[in-house]
Amino acid sequence: TRKKIIAGNWKMYKTPRESLEFLNAFLPKVHDHERDEIIIFPTATSLSTVIDRVRGTHLRAGAQTMHWLNEGPYTGQTSPNMLTSIGATHVLLGHSERRLYANETYEHVNLKIKAAIAHDLIPVLCLGELLVDRQGGFTRDIIMAQMGAALSNIPTENAKQIVIAYEPVWAIGTGSTASPEIANEVHSIIRSQLEWVFNAEIANNTRILYGGSVKPENSAALLTQPDIDGLLVGGASLDPACFAKIVHTKY
Ligand code: 13P
Repeated sequence: TRKKIIAGNWKMYKTPRESLEFLNAFLPKVHDHERDEIIIFPTATSLSTVIDRVRGTHLRAGAQTMHWLNEGPYTGQTSPNMLTSIGATHVLLGHSERRLYANETYEHVNLKIKAAIAHDLIPVLCLGELLVDRQGGFTRDIIMAQMGAALSNIPTENAKQIVIAYEPVWAIGTGSTASPEIANEVHSIIRSQLEWVFNAEIANNTRILYGGSVKPENSAALLTQPDIDGLLVGGASLDPACFAKIVHTKY
């Protein structure tokens, strides 16, 4: 069985002080919750504060993006070894907001996945189609293209550390979630593609998270789908009581 992951992507919210306020309220609510993996992705300037505060707990923290090189003249970028040096364990890669607003290409995402693996960071590869893609009936093609590019030339023995997040772009921050059945359908496409690219064992063991307008009201219906192995939560992860409710979802 696949241990579920409940992850919060804080995007461009929360200073270090606000992050600590969140954790002071959130940690007591989840300190004995070991059923799921809980991961927080704060903004770059709050990351080391969050890592220091969750040290010794079962929570983990990661970055929202990174460069693929270790150092160089790349203003504004953060490297994989800079992340591991402060204790980050995970990194979000290929989030649609990075693809849309930061010109992250298929090739960049592939380089970043390889760099994460080389540095023992767990990459959370984000995939998802735009509304026009879905309306045109291209969801499957887009997902296959994104996966094919992101996972190209990854040796099978390294594939088991990869986590995938399916985030339909039309469901992000819009309040309209993909129905649990629609989400599960895409998750199972992703799982069969993993079998095709790697093998059945990798496909069976890879956690595939859903993201896009997740809230306490819809988390149970999503988490009870057979191919949904966790949630990547944006807006609803910013409030400690709300995010704790999602963590405690009955499934
Ligand atoms: P929302 O939960 O705010 O829709 O954001 C989803 C997301 O992009 C998480 O990475």
